[in-house]
Amino acid sequence: MKKQFILLCSFVFTLSIPSFLTAQNAKQKALKNLDSQVNQYGVIAKKIWEFAEVGYKEKQSSNLLQETLKKAGFSVEAGVAEIPTAFVASFGSGSPVIGIMAEYDALPGMSQDSIPQKKTAGGNSGHACGHHLFGTASIAAAISVKEWMKETGQKGTIKVYGCPAEEGGSGKVYMVRAGLFNGVDAMLHWHPNDENTVSNGSSLANKAGKFRFYGLASHAAASPEMGRSALDAVEAMNHMANMMREHVPSSTRIHYVITNGGKAPNIVPDFAEVYYYVRSPKRDIVKDVWNRIEKAAEGASLGTSTKYEVEVIGGVYEVLPNDALAKVMGDNLKQVGGYILDAKELEFAKTIQQTPGMQVVDLNRTQSTFFGNADPSSGGSTDVADVSWTVPTVGMGAATWVPGTSAHSWQAVAAGGMSIGKKGMMVAAKTITGATIDLFLSPETLKKAKEELDKLRGPNFKYESLLGNRKPALNYRD
Ligand SMILES: [Zn+2]
Repeated sequence: MKKQFILLCSFVFTLSIPSFLTAQNAKQKALKNLDSQVNQYGVIAKKIWEFAEVGYKEKQSSNLLQETLKKAGFSVEAGVAEIPTAFVASFGSGSPVIGIMAEYDALPGMSQDSIPQKKTAGGNSGHACGHHLFGTASIAAAISVKEWMKETGQKGTIKVYGCPAEEGGSGKVYMVRAGLFNGVDAMLHWHPNDENTVSNGSSLANKAGKFRFYGLASHAAASPEMGRSALDAVEAMNHMANMMREHVPSSTRIHYVITNGGKAPNIVPDFAEVYYYVRSPKRDIVKDVWNRIEKAAEGASLGTSTKYEVEVIGGVYEVLPNDALAKVMGDNLKQVGGYILDAKELEFAKTIQQTPGMQVVDLNRTQSTFFGNADPSSGGSTDVADVSWTVPTVGMGAATWVPGTSAHSWQAVAAGGMSIGKKGMMVAAKTITGATIDLFLSPETLKKAKEELDKLRGPNFKYESLLGNRKPALNYRD
């Protein structure tokens, strides 16, 4: 019995070590292959950069990614979660199931050429958050993982989640609500950045919506007493919200834009609209402050004899970090490393660093990689958060922008449209490929990641989206 046991052990030992080595060799090969595919994926990213389609209108961008995945042997389910531009692509079967998120929406009013001077590319919108690179690197990673699975005979499923309307549309929230992430063991994502980093931190929870006021139009000089100004209501509401800032936790962010303030000064506006965001590191605070903002709208409508309605458009949780997964991502980013700016890129970087809005930091930063916990209050919000409360989730950032660039700036659009964006994108594609392969090879890490999620969520956690039951706001950019 004892002898048999020893024999069995040595049998398993001799079998598993070479096969693990093969898997590791095949991983190195997959990473190398990606190096030779820079141009191929660069073309895809550039096309999406040129399409520059805003949230829920990403028809061409989504199609291009889907077609590339189909050609590579993935089966694609499109139009999921009642969103025409959302999709789930799969390869393989059974567990483990590992998913990679892809985004591809642009930002309105951000058209910019791929040059280091502020100049529109002629369109309306632009990829100021680099989601054209995000989507492309994610499918590149999924396709290389698929090749690796084929080569090694690895069991399991690799999925790509095509996630529209990250910028204020909360696309992933509807996908979580539709149960599309059920049964997934780990979700990976990344984001364009001005450095190569794994920040195992959180983000700000966010609730957003449009307040619409309806008044009565009249001649602003001849018969103002006949009018009830919807713009007055917007201004009264904003005034109350601005006073409220003193009486909310200091990490709260409240911001608004007036999306409609009337058409002409000589007409009392019978319609006005203001678009609000409320953010905080904790979603319970967001919920509370949002309710108070709604009260301000109600008060403003009462005081101005106007009617109002509110449409909640976005709502996301704060990201739940995962140490077990972050370690795997961090190790892979370190292995992949950063990149060197060539002479042309260096000139581009130096020129753009002199433009207003840039921080002057060391341009050699693209060569380094970082690992740490980000300060949640310094960041933005993302609908990745809702995924992270459903499935163990990890992300990374790659230097697709000149060091010192802020997201949502023309400088981000410019660098994202040239070779710096492409180089950063490949750092992400390789890191995610490596991390996904390591997770396929390590059921223990997946188990640990799930235990961590369960512990952080607590036993009584039940997912309730901040959006309630509303249908996807497919026209929120109109
Ligand atoms: Zn973004």
